[in-house]
Amino acid sequence: MTPPHASPDPIGRVADRLAEVRSRMADAAARAGRSLSGVTLVAVSKTFSDEAVRAVRDLGQLDFGESRPQALAARLKADPPLHVRWHFVGRLQRNKIDQVSAATLIHSVDRIKLAEALAAQANRKGRVQRVLVQVNISDDPAKSGFVPEETTVAVARIRELPGVSVQGLMTIPAQGADPAEAFTRMRELRDGLRSRFPEVVHLSMGMTGDYEAAIEHGATIIRVGTGIFGDRA
Ligand SMILES: *Cc1c(COP(=O)(O)O)cnc(C)c1O
Repeated sequence: MTPPHASPDPIGRVADRLAEVRSRMADAAARAGRSLSGVTLVAVSKTFSDEAVRAVRDLGQLDFGESRPQALAARLKADPPLHVRWHFVGRLQRNKIDQVSAATLIHSVDRIKLAEALAAQANRKGRVQRVLVQVNISDDPAKSGFVPEETTVAVARIRELPGVSVQGLMTIPAQGADPAEAFTRMRELRDGLRSRFPEVVHLSMGMTGDYEAAIEHGATIIRVGTGIFGDRA
């Protein structure tokens, strides 16, 4: 039963959900002895309305994520403008990269050819695209990303491309895999890379079901959708 004081409006409930996510983030950071300022929350708004994005933005949330290029392109055309920072977190084809070029960070670089295309586009525009390299940490055939053994060589190659800056790693652990173990291995991978390449600092890992464990294991960026916006239709 919905308590009588709760808003029947699903957008109205985002305030409660966002407050809960923020409080659980703070608790997880405290358990790990980390500062909450070292963890960026990306609100993954896929399938939700521009009104829902505005409601979350008006609660002070700055960073949002989309997983389809067309959806991100549509957000940029919202009227009135949304005025938030966009992250691209989904699978990206080379012929769609123009639709995500406004992203502050592309989390999902999973092939050298994609990195080369992003670099070429950034050079044409005279800018640098910040990216994360996606790692298939559980070697899951359903997931994209470099397997851990390939990741160091891939990062070394991609960071040499002018126009692209590799800021860290991203992962989605396989369903059924132990997320704590996957997150620990991601952190070790990042630590090894960072000792050679100091700009490789970020770890984008943790979603609604596992963001607290991700923070405890060193995530610097978490990507939370349903935990903020409610269940997707
Ligand atoms: C949808 C999505 C999320 C958010 O998932 P939730 O379980 O709704 O929190 C995070 N990362 C990626 C890559 C996604 O596609």
